[in-house]
Amino acid sequence: MARYTGAQCKKCRREGQKLFLKGERCLTGKCSIDRRNYAPGQHGANKSKLSEYGLQLRAKQKTKIYYGVSESQFRKYYEVAFRKNGVTSDLLFGLLETRLDNVAYRMGIGTSRRESRQLVNYGMLTVNGKTVNVPSYQVKVGDVVAVRAEKKDNAAIKKLADFIKTKNVVSWIEMDKDKLEAKIVRVPQREDVDLEVAENLIIELYSKQ
Ligand code: SF4
Repeated sequence: MARYTGAQCKKCRREGQKLFLKGERCLTGKCSIDRRNYAPGQHGANKSKLSEYGLQLRAKQKTKIYYGVSESQFRKYYEVAFRKNGVTSDLLFGLLETRLDNVAYRMGIGTSRRESRQLVNYGMLTVNGKTVNVPSYQVKVGDVVAVRAEKKDNAAIKKLADFIKTKNVVSWIEMDKDKLEAKIVRVPQREDVDLEVAENLIIELYSKQ
């Protein structure tokens, strides 16, 4: 399925939560959730009670939108997580967090996951010294992700300099902000992810299908 590229803020309003899809605008008073925290559309302000299936669907949609992955990609992550030993929801979030585009976002290489994905596509990053331009590339513990030496003066990277300096880096990544280089020090867990979602609902949804 093609990636939805319509108004990003509507997606947040539909989910009733900031999903940080528009970069720096999300941190300002211009955020639509701060101004109109109800679903878009004529009847958006009338909150109706969702069925069990509706709640499960919304939990899945919210997570999928947050990471900017397609339905088929998301399902594939679930299936991989389900087949592994361990808590499926932890493994699912671990897989989503360790996508290269998300790691770039966590490093501050991009003010939104969408921008980070573009920068990965443009070949701005290396993993263990080799250029990788595949946003879904899965990084592992011990991998070193860095901005390519020849791209450090690129206008898009320079523009991010202040953002990178102030960005709080997650604890599973060790970041050298001067070198624009990060090492993955452990597998991220569900509690490392700043998304309010009942992950059990996602698992329930897929386990029925
Ligand atoms: Fe829009 Fe960002 Fe606010 Fe979401 S968090 S409503 S994308 S400004």
